[in-house]
Amino acid sequence: MSGGGRVLVVGVGGIGAPCAWALADAGVGPLRLCDPDRVETSNLPRQVLFGPDDVGRPKAEVAAARLAREGLAVEPVVAAFDASTADALLGDVEVVVDATDGAATKDLVHALAVAAGRPVVHAAGIGSEGRVLDVPAGGRPCLACLFGRLAAGDEGGDTCARFGVFPGVVGAVGALAAGVAARRRRAPRAPSEGLLVLDAGAGRVRTLHVEADPACPVCGAGADPRAAVRPGRAERAVAAPRAPAPPDALDLRDEACPMNLLRARRAVERLAARDTLSVWLGEEGASTVPDGLVALGHDVLEQVAEGDGVRVVVRRGVRAAGADDASDAWLRRYARQIVLAELGEGGQRRLGAATARVVGTGDVALAAAVHLNAAGFGAVELDDGSPIPVAGPPWPLREAPGATTRGEALARALLARGAVARAVADASPPTPRVAVVLEGPVAARLEVEPSPDGPRARALGALLCDAAMRAVLRLPGGLLSLPTSR
Ligand SMILES: [Zn+2]
Repeated sequence: MSGGGRVLVVGVGGIGAPCAWALADAGVGPLRLCDPDRVETSNLPRQVLFGPDDVGRPKAEVAAARLAREGLAVEPVVAAFDASTADALLGDVEVVVDATDGAATKDLVHALAVAAGRPVVHAAGIGSEGRVLDVPAGGRPCLACLFGRLAAGDEGGDTCARFGVFPGVVGAVGALAAGVAARRRRAPRAPSEGLLVLDAGAGRVRTLHVEADPACPVCGAGADPRAAVRPGRAERAVAAPRAPAPPDALDLRDEACPMNLLRARRAVERLAARDTLSVWLGEEGASTVPDGLVALGHDVLEQVAEGDGVRVVVRRGVRAAGADDASDAWLRRYARQIVLAELGEGGQRRLGAATARVVGTGDVALAAAVHLNAAGFGAVELDDGSPIPVAGPPWPLREAPGATTRGEALARALLARGAVARAVADASPPTPRVAVVLEGPVAARLEVEPSPDGPRARALGALLCDAAMRAVLRLPGGLLSLPTSR
């Protein structure tokens, strides 16, 4: 079917939101944004299109409302991508960006898009690492050539404890995926650009050449991609009436990842060393929370199936750190970030006490400021006295009518999202580079060459945010430089 140039972004989360933002501002469209979920507060540190006022609204609809403008149609689809919706979602699409998380979903999106003859840009991130794979129309190579079926792997899947991701990393991956999608749309069957692997902790970016697997179950000769898709989990039986939790147990049957791990951890870390606590978990929590607690240095002494859940007995580890007395609202706001072992609640507080000044203009500075604010820096200063483009200023500049400079518009837009942000005029000596300047306990200046506006510039801005976080948290890794072809 001949498409109208439409790009489908599956998943409007940590990767899909910055990806859609970069696609829209690069004029790549029309866009179709597909996501069944609603905005949660724990999404806000990295899903940059959303603010506190959007919590509870469908992500696809909020993102479409932010990005649609004259000349660019953005169609929201509040539904999951699955075997029943795939044909309609893929029908008139030229390129698919897979920005979902979860191995089984990635297998499904990938196999059905390849079967439909659509090129796919596969984007993923976890912890400090991200990857972008460029798959031509029909595959060869495809995701399954490289990794087989992700859901069939023996790595145990994504657990709560592994689930956190640095916001700058997913921001960069989303923007880079937008760049690949824009090129792929112009040449659907061109050879693959390969697999871009980014590791912010190790300070590495590599582009790996990828070969097709002749026996690939998705794109090999005679393969049936639909048969490679793992069947979905059977419908669960009607739930039995719920038994009340025993009075000595912390009942987390209604909490989902990552809040169930965070709440279990807080309760355990308030105990004296070697004291024990019973925690009652639902099905999802039972498969992830015990491993997460062990990874944090606690001991799981027993696990007993009980009623509609599992009761685990946890002993507080001797080496484990004590819990801060953070409010539930605060925990939810930063939930995804503070499951990162590298960050934690103490680290998030250090970010909250830090001020970051963004010096420079264009998409690099814009992306850096938006990501720094979302990630939880206490204050963001905008040193950008350049004028706002008259025609079609990018989001969020257009949300501040009446501002005269880009710095002022950005400060107003971030303020409206509950941030501490201010425009500062000429606070820094002029520089041809774009910089993030940190002051206070950690003083640092991180600079990149300005890049022409577009997805690459957005990725550089997100990487500036990541490097600033690493500086404040005194984590290894630094500012990554992207290969020039991107
Ligand atoms: Zn393949």
